Amino acid sequence: MSRQRVAVGAVVLLASSLLTACSDDEDPSSEQTPPPASSATPTVTATIADDAEDDAPDPADPGFDMALSTPREDSVYPDVGDPSVDALHYDLDLAWTPETETLEGLVTIALRSTGDGDRLQLDLGSSLDVDSVTLDGKDVEFEHSGKNLVISSPVRKDQRYLLAVHYAGTPKPTAAPTTRIDFSTSGWHVTEDGETWTMQEPYGAYTWYPVNDQPADKALYDFTITVPSPWVGVANGELAERTESGGLTTTTWHTTEPMSSYLVTVATGDYTMTTNTTDRSGMEISYWVPTDQQDLAQGLYSAAGALEWLEDKLGPFPFDTLGFLLVDNRSGMETQTMITLGITEYTTSTPVLLHEMAHQWYGDEVSPSDWRDMWMNEGMVMYLQGMWTAEQDGFSLDEMMDEWAEFEDDMRRESGPPANYDPAEFGEGNVYYGPALMWHELRKRLGDRVFFEMMREWPEARSNQNSGRDDYLAWIEDQTGKELTSFFDAWLLGETTPPRA
Ligand SMILES: [Zn+2]
Repeated sequence: MSRQRVAVGAVVLLASSLLTACSDDEDPSSEQTPPPASSATPTVTATIADDAEDDAPDPADPGFDMALSTPREDSVYPDVGDPSVDALHYDLDLAWTPETETLEGLVTIALRSTGDGDRLQLDLGSSLDVDSVTLDGKDVEFEHSGKNLVISSPVRKDQRYLLAVHYAGTPKPTAAPTTRIDFSTSGWHVTEDGETWTMQEPYGAYTWYPVNDQPADKALYDFTITVPSPWVGVANGELAERTESGGLTTTTWHTTEPMSSYLVTVATGDYTMTTNTTDRSGMEISYWVPTDQQDLAQGLYSAAGALEWLEDKLGPFPFDTLGFLLVDNRSGMETQTMITLGITEYTTSTPVLLHEMAHQWYGDEVSPSDWRDMWMNEGMVMYLQGMWTAEQDGFSLDEMMDEWAEFEDDMRRESGPPANYDPAEFGEGNVYYGPALMWHELRKRLGDRVFFEMMREWPEARSNQNSGRDDYLAWIEDQTGKELTSFFDAWLLGETTPPRA
C-alpha cells in the first residue's frame, strides 16, 4: 500500500520533495468529473452464468498443490480467518446489478481440511444472504452468524473438499483498523453511480465473498464477472475471455500463481483498456481507466520505465501479467498482477506506480504469514522508492535517510515498534520508514554486493509462499554469515530509533 501523508509536521516538506505530486490540499474537482450520459447507471439485471456449476474443478487436481499453505490464527487480527481451512482455489462467479446494488455470487472453493473435525469455518459479511451451501455436491447445514460462516460436516485432516456457496445481497465495507486518512473502510465499495471497487488490506475480502481472510492462506483464483454492458468487470490475472449477450458483459480472469486474499481486486464500471510495453523485456502492461477519464491513461505509461528500473534491482518481474486499475478512492494498493489505484494526483504519480510494482516482489511473490510482519512488505518497498526518488531528483540517499530518521522516532512513539504495532494503527508510518532505514543500515554493514544479492534473491527464495520474521532473519543470517539478532531486534522491536552508523 502506498502512503502519502505522515503524522508530524516536520515531514510535510520532506514528503512533498520526495513525492513531487503530493499535496495535502488536493482540489476535489480534479478527481471527479461528472460522468457523461454514456456511463449512466445501466438498468439491466445481471445474473450469474447458468453453467457455473457444470465445470466444477477437482480439488485433488495436482495443479492446486502450489497453493498448499499453513493457515494460522493471526496474532494482530485473530478474529478474521480460521486455521481449519486451507483454501487452494476460489472460483468466483459474480453478477453485479448496479441499479439495485445487488451482488449475486456462486463461489466454489477447493480446500484442504487442516484437521479432523465436524466443521469448516470461513469469513463472509453479514449483509450477504446465503442461499445454499454444498460440500462435494451435497447440501450441508451451515450457520451464518455475524461474519462467520460455519459449515457442519465431518471432515478429515488433509482431505480435500469442494465447497460451493450461493449468496446474494448488497455488500457493506467493514471499518478498517487504522487512523489513516486515505482510507477508513475495507472491502467492497459502491460509488454513487453503482460502480464498484475493492481494497481490503489487512482484511475485508469477506465483505463480498466467502474466504479464509488471513494472509497465510494463499490460493489460486478464477473470476467470472457479469455486469450490464457497456460496463465490464476487472480482476487479477489474465483476461481469458470477454463476451456480450443479452445486454450483459461477462469477463473471465485467470491467475496462474496463488495469492493472499488481501491482494485480490475486483472492480466493475465503464472502463477502457490500453497497453504499453517495456523496452527491454517487452513486458506488456495493461491500463484499465474509466472511459470518461481516458486522459489519465497517458500519465500512467511511465510505469514501463519504472518497471525496468525495478527489474534492474530485483530481477525479472515475478508474474506473467501486469495491469493497473483506476478506481474512485484515495489510496493505492499492490493487488497481485492488477494494481488498484485511487484517482488522485498522488496515487497516479510515478513514485506510487513504482511503489506498488515493487510490492509485486515484496508482499505478493513472498507475503507475510501474519500481520505483525507487514514491515516485510513496506520496509523494502519504501527503501526502493527512496532510492528511485533520490536518483530521479538528484538527492544523495544518505541525505534522504537523515531526513527520514528525524521523524522516525515520533512514528514509533505514536504507533509502536514496526514489528509490534498498535492493532488500531494499521499501516501507519512506523512500518514504512523505520524498516527502510534498517535496510539502509544493513546495506552499510554488508556492502552493496552482498546487500543487493540478498535483496534480489529473497522473493525468489520464497516464491508463492508466506514467511515471517524468524524465517526471514534466519535466511539473511545464513546468506550473509553474520549474527544480526540484536540489530534486527533493535530496529523492529525497539521503542526508539536505534543508533545509525
Ligand atoms: Zn506499500
